Amino acid sequence: MIEIENIRLRKIVKNNIKFSNWAHTFECIPELYFEPENDDDIIKIIELAKLYNKNVRAVGAGHSPSDVACTEGIMINMEKLNKIIEVDIEKKTVVVEAGARIDKLNECLWKHGLALSNLGSISDQSISGAISTTTHGTGINFGNQSTQVVELTLLTASRGIINCSANENEDVFKASLCSMGALGIILKVKIQCESAFKLKSNQYSMKLNDILKNLDSIINSAEHVRIWWFPHTENCIIWKADRTTENLKIQQSSYFKDHIISFHLYQFLLNITRCFPSTVPLLTTLMFKYKFSQPKQVINDSYKQFNFDCLFPQYTNEWAIPLEKTKEALEKLYEWVNGNGVFVHFPVEVRFVDKDDIWLSPAYKRKVCYIGIIMYRPYNKPVPYKKYWAAFEEIMRSCDGRPYWAKEHTMTAAELEKSYPKFKEFIELQKSLDPNGMFLNLYLKRHLFGMDENFNKDYFKAKL
Ligand SMILES: Cc1cc2nc3c(=O)[nH]c(=O)nc-3n(C[C@H](O)[C@H](O)[C@H](O)COP(=O)(O)OP(=O)(O)OC[C@H]3O[C@@H](n4cnc5c(N)ncnc54)[C@H](O)[C@@H]3O)c2cc1C
Repeated sequence: MIEIENIRLRKIVKNNIKFSNWAHTFECIPELYFEPENDDDIIKIIELAKLYNKNVRAVGAGHSPSDVACTEGIMINMEKLNKIIEVDIEKKTVVVEAGARIDKLNECLWKHGLALSNLGSISDQSISGAISTTTHGTGINFGNQSTQVVELTLLTASRGIINCSANENEDVFKASLCSMGALGIILKVKIQCESAFKLKSNQYSMKLNDILKNLDSIINSAEHVRIWWFPHTENCIIWKADRTTENLKIQQSSYFKDHIISFHLYQFLLNITRCFPSTVPLLTTLMFKYKFSQPKQVINDSYKQFNFDCLFPQYTNEWAIPLEKTKEALEKLYEWVNGNGVFVHFPVEVRFVDKDDIWLSPAYKRKVCYIGIIMYRPYNKPVPYKKYWAAFEEIMRSCDGRPYWAKEHTMTAAELEKSYPKFKEFIELQKSLDPNGMFLNLYLKRHLFGMDENFNKDYFKAKL
């Protein structure tokens, strides 16, 4: 039983909190849950954790679709550390507290004539959460979001506060840009931005086979290229976007089309397919015809273009494979989906990311294609997904894939060590910055240290 003597800590602790991630697929009950408002609060929490030998986990927006943010020890909600500390218009940089949400940052930057160079599908994440898992968008010459960070301040267990960048404590910098909370608490970051820009996007449909024949030219045909394949059909859409100075061209949203049909009716029909799974391909075909078959051109502010509505709770799995394996992987997935009597949801999302030198980044030293699969949970109800997951992961492994850290996956510590040249260095650094394992949780023990007896690479198969 922890006794909190410090008056300030008593003020910022919350009782009886159950943490659940956005998709409601993982939850935990932390022993203590804090909502700090400044760095001093966090330092005091770490002192308390040391005194009682408790594990500590920072949580951002809780959007990770795995248990990466879970703990039964002390949880630190970063939400109130959300200040935008400094905007340097000349150097196009911004310094932010770690818990600031990306959507708030987007709006603030825009007012200063700046923008982030690339974004994922949503901007609801915290900065530190997005960085900690190497959140990515798409664009073969654009790195994941951690590559936009130029300086970072980390509170560690053994060395106190460390400022790091490419020129100072470089090893800590390269490790902490994808560290899943394992090295300490990120307090603030400096991000390199660019001048605010508009994106002109074109979305059109194409058959999978034609895409696979012209993959290289499609990947390189625009700054940002995303492909969605509609499984059980040959249909795909390609979304391409380039920077432009042309005037805005915004499609009016239709409440009926975007909310009643594409959200509510779709969710209702997906729920029905839980009883009649063989109707999933028909629903996919209807949705494609209704919503995606017509070409669409939009010119809008960059951050409004990168993001889109990800609908309702979902299971997701996503791996990064070397770019040159994209065709092989999609062919194998196409074959499996069509030959196994399993009915899966759209989309299979295909994105492209530039290589980087962040130790545990899935794009470490290689340009990658991220392939993501999804099974929606209409009205938060479960759907069978593990057979699909097991087959998908087998294909990703056969293509030398690395899983995206934010999502549930079965890559073991031994496999990860083989895949990441800097894995051992990361583990050594982790042990030196956190000798008592204060910042580890079950996810990290499982995937970085091989310390979860109930887990192995056949986890999904075993659960069928
Ligand atoms: C609808 C939806 C769409 C998504 N789209 C994309 C996408 O397009 N591209 C993509 O790459 N990902 C995507 N994601 C995944 C998401 O970007 C990542 O899971 C991201 O980590 C979530 O950020 P968060 O603030 O919610 O972090 P959390 O989930 O709260 O935490 C993630 C990790 O960061 C650690 N952490 C958080 N703050 C700190 C801190 N201050 N110090 C140390 N560690 C910290 C946590 O301990 C945890 O390990 C999506 C998720 C959802 C639900």
